[in-house]
Amino acid sequence: MLSSLRAAAAVRPGHGREFRASPETGNLKPHARPGPNLTKCYGFQHHGPGKVAGLKHPCRLPDAGSLPSLSAMSIDRNAKIFVAGHRGMVGSAIYRELQRLGFTRLVVRTRVELELLDSAAVTQFYAAEQPEFVFIAAARVGGILANSQRPAEFIYENLQIQNHLIFGAHTAKVRKLLFLGSSCIYPKLAQQPIPESALLTGPLEPTNEWYAVAKIAGIKLCLALRRQYGDDFISSMPANLYGLNDNYDLQGSHVLPALIRKFHEAKVAGAPAVTCWGSGSPFREFLYADDLARACVFLMENYSADEIINIGCGEELTIKALAETVQRIVGYSGQIVWDTTKPDGTPRKLLDVSRLFALGWRPQVNMESGLRLAYADFLKNPGCR
Ligand code: NDP
Repeated sequence: MLSSLRAAAAVRPGHGREFRASPETGNLKPHARPGPNLTKCYGFQHHGPGKVAGLKHPCRLPDAGSLPSLSAMSIDRNAKIFVAGHRGMVGSAIYRELQRLGFTRLVVRTRVELELLDSAAVTQFYAAEQPEFVFIAAARVGGILANSQRPAEFIYENLQIQNHLIFGAHTAKVRKLLFLGSSCIYPKLAQQPIPESALLTGPLEPTNEWYAVAKIAGIKLCLALRRQYGDDFISSMPANLYGLNDNYDLQGSHVLPALIRKFHEAKVAGAPAVTCWGSGSPFREFLYADDLARACVFLMENYSADEIINIGCGEELTIKALAETVQRIVGYSGQIVWDTTKPDGTPRKLLDVSRLFALGWRPQVNMESGLRLAYADFLKNPGCR
């Protein structure tokens, strides 16, 4: 089957209406689904050697009461699927994954073709296209700087985009919808690893509360439609992401793409040192965007429940270890200087992924390979986005 997939022509996500797409060649191996019994520490199904120092993965068993409900449904490869935000990092990864799996009727729109802030346009779009499945990967997204400089746009635009897409999907009788939130919806001082039950149990991290409040409203809208109308709308919360087609604009980017760009530019300029914010001691979890995409399609086919579900790799590393790894992969030989006058943020942010792993899903791309792929992609168009 894989050879026929490889032989098939690839269709890139881009402009236009409905795509009759053939599966794209993928370097990633199809992963085995080990089934719902989780009896070991979890970790990656690594491809190749993983050389990242300082990775930790906690050992945890889900208790029987917390096991999520399975709703196995193999989606017809001819079903009409709308990927909102297909030109972003996550949306393009979901699009690639759907192509790879052989879905033939993928519907996408650029922002010029469909402004998601325009309620009437979204309603009209749904009425015309009538997709059966919807992945919502469109949002106003950014790091701490962007969030703190533009709080009004972060809360307003995200509420508008998701309201139009989610309620529009209800009106258009979409069969199933997946809404993507973020790990920042959880309280700043949530227990670690963060279980889904931590939602709304404490104050949010102030720097991104605007974005988080909007995302929480999206989760609740999906739940309300589920409760009142029986809509099969689910919400999942990814860890920090990185991958192809990331945002490397230092004004708006997250920590990992910002590090790639900073080390690359320092290498090119022959700069003696790169300054990084904080002490480097906080722990963070990072998931490769194509792994997230696989998880999203997996959940669309296998998960149906009121509860939100976390998506992560179950491993964490310090920002210092991350910076040193990016430095090595980029090939920068200067010094790293830690500016400890800058805030560290929360000391640890690791999602509890035991519910997702209990369903049998596992990530496939380790940090070393993922970073190499992301840097190679950055090099194709440095400074893009
Ligand atoms: P990107 O910024 O890469 O992509 C966002 C997409 O949304 C873009 O395609 C953008 O279009 C589209 N979009 C934004 N506003 C509008 C609008 N008004 N009308 C039409 N399209 C619009 O974000 P990511 O891919 O990183 O994130 C996608 C989702 O994943 C978000 O919900 C985010 O919360 C979630 N997520 C991301 C994480 C990360 O680390 N990146 C971590 C956890 C969750 P255009 O290309 O025209 O700008």
